[in-house]
Amino acid sequence: MFDTLQDRLSATFKSLRGKGRLSEADIDATCREIRIALLEADVNLAVVKEFVANVKERARGAELSQALNPAQQIVKIVNDELVAILGGETRLLRFAKRPPTVIMLAGLQGAGKTTLAGKLARWLKDSGHSPLLVAADLQRPNAVTQLQVVGQRAGVQVFAPEPGNTSASEAAGVGVGDPVGVARRSIEEAERRLFDVVVIDTAGRLGIDAELMQQAADIRDAVHPDEVLFVVDAMIGQDAVNTANAFAEGVGFDGVVLTKLDGDARGGAALSIARVTGKPIMFASNGEQVGDFDVFHPDRMASRILG
Ligand code: GDP
Repeated sequence: MFDTLQDRLSATFKSLRGKGRLSEADIDATCREIRIALLEADVNLAVVKEFVANVKERARGAELSQALNPAQQIVKIVNDELVAILGGETRLLRFAKRPPTVIMLAGLQGAGKTTLAGKLARWLKDSGHSPLLVAADLQRPNAVTQLQVVGQRAGVQVFAPEPGNTSASEAAGVGVGDPVGVARRSIEEAERRLFDVVVIDTAGRLGIDAELMQQAADIRDAVHPDEVLFVVDAMIGQDAVNTANAFAEGVGFDGVVLTKLDGDARGGAALSIARVTGKPIMFASNGEQVGDFDVFHPDRMASRILG
């Protein structure tokens, strides 16, 4: 990912090599190149403007270190600004003082929520937790079954109305189309069976709609999650930012999970979403396998972009 951005930035830095000091014209030309590079990477326009203004101000400023040559100084400034727009510090998951910690996943259908639920649960398990996956997506045919499969692959338990069969849920007293009930009962189940983290997969639609938002908000109000994670497909570029804004308004969330980074050559969503929403990117998913997942580290991502 970030292929073009990486190439463009490295060409820009190369052109500064060997310069004894940077003239105003050098700084302007460099900032112009950086602006083009970010816009080509599909970064949100407001974020680009702020980024370039910050780089320009710092490049002109007195903060330039004697120990670095001008090219190195610009690289350092760009690196710092990338870390800043990616969210600054790594934001780790907050666990409840009194278990279970409740994590709710929200996002559009196809964003990769169910896949992510399995990855997150596996990661939690590998970190010494005992997670319970909850199938509160009763909208999409097969969503429950899919979560069962994901859970099996990840080696974690799944709480569902009835294994692989939502229609049997009425007999179990949960009721088809009662995701709020499922979510609520899953917490009781976790308390009873001593699971310390509950990961709730909620329904998504293909587009943003009021009913979807309401359902997610109802689940949130019923279980009071410690973390609501907004799961979004990085490949949709700037639409990711628009979707994030809609979810921020309709449901609210604490952090972002970017999926399909492996298929995103440009990086616009990754580079825009933390700044635009003011919420940290907490995890990143970069493949279909259960292990293709990690905590998101802004500094590491910035280093990767700069090569
Ligand atoms: P949901 O509707 O949000 O639950 O989305 P799913 O978890 O069903 O994922 C939708 C599709 O995206 C599936 O085909 C997944 O295999 C695929 N997918 C999910 N995460 C990733 C990822 O990080 N990289 C790639 N390449 N594919 C992914």
